[in-house]
Amino acid sequence: MSGAGDAPLMAKLRERIRSEGPISLGVYMEICLADPEHGYYRKADPIGAAGDFTTSPEISQIFGELIGLALAQAWLDQGQPPSFLLVELGPGRGRLMADAIRAVRRVPGFLDAAQPILVETSAPLRTAQAKALGGAPREPLWLDRLEDATDGPVFLIANEFFDAMPLRQWRRAAEGWRERRIALGADDALVYEFGPPEPLDVPDLSGAPIGAWFERSEASEAIVDEIGKRLSARGGAALAIDYAYDLAQRRAAGWPETFQAVRAHAYADPLEAPGAADLTAHVDFSALSAAAARQGAQAHGPVTQGAFLRRLGAEQRAAALAKANPSQAESVAAGLGRLIDPREMGALFKVLGLTAKGAPPIAGFA
Ligand code: SAH
Repeated sequence: MSGAGDAPLMAKLRERIRSEGPISLGVYMEICLADPEHGYYRKADPIGAAGDFTTSPEISQIFGELIGLALAQAWLDQGQPPSFLLVELGPGRGRLMADAIRAVRRVPGFLDAAQPILVETSAPLRTAQAKALGGAPREPLWLDRLEDATDGPVFLIANEFFDAMPLRQWRRAAEGWRERRIALGADDALVYEFGPPEPLDVPDLSGAPIGAWFERSEASEAIVDEIGKRLSARGGAALAIDYAYDLAQRRAAGWPETFQAVRAHAYADPLEAPGAADLTAHVDFSALSAAAARQGAQAHGPVTQGAFLRRLGAEQRAAALAKANPSQAESVAAGLGRLIDPREMGALFKVLGLTAKGAPPIAGFA
């Protein structure tokens, strides 16, 4: 299903591979998703029924409301710092932040102390975010990177953000680990191949059998480094929510690979139409916890999204919404079900919390 719009990136990739040789999956993802001109996240709004995928904040307002309240509770528990950054990484259409800000108006002092910061590289999505947040009591500030934010305690949310970060993959062969790369096939089509065997300096991989996959997102680890540094120095709390696994689950599942493309709500061939499909992989929360720990921060969880939202009172909130708008009762219940039912997003999606070491636990984690 490649159209004329896909041609520019295909040409760019071929040229690069011809001049430099096969590229890593990380380079491929970076070009497909973030090319300044033709990258998937630069061109259009990919979210919602008319786009490629739907996310929790688009399904129910309860999601953003409860996350806002969990961050506000963390702010209260940490002694109400008088000035802090309220950050969202990859805010999509801005629904989560809009719902969060509406819910936390009831927490005295919280919004007065908050500078909302939206870390977003997509111009069309920045426009959508500005619209969703129009009239909010605090003007948000848009940044390309968290590093560009001023100093201060940070209360942060990232929903389905890390799964879009570039990652590299290796597969275990008899001779060692071989990196999966992208090369040019006979007819100039993009094809997978494997690089030369190399040792991988990851202690937890010792028991991996031949055929096992290892995935690593250095881009995600670098972002968590930055979050961890800020949490350790100035306090705050961070919540990352994603389709995630940890090492024990990887081992139990037979060390699968999780790179995938989604286009128009269906799986697609990740090499077929570069720049036209969303490319994602499951997020390794063990690696992100370890990155935070290296900066002296502490991980909480992960817990399942279903358990997290239930502990925050998702069912009570749904009942209150249904009572206030009886005509919407059915859609409120359906939305809640999609978020917390283990057969929907309740079990596959996990929540990882981060704070400074010794900070009070974040609401929703046991
Ligand atoms: N959190 C939103 C959107 C998830 S889609 C939701 O739940 O609906 C991923 C989001 O991350 C989009 O807003 C996308 O434009 C943004 N994004 C992707 N790569 C990024 C990068 N490198 N830096 C900042 N934002 C990025």
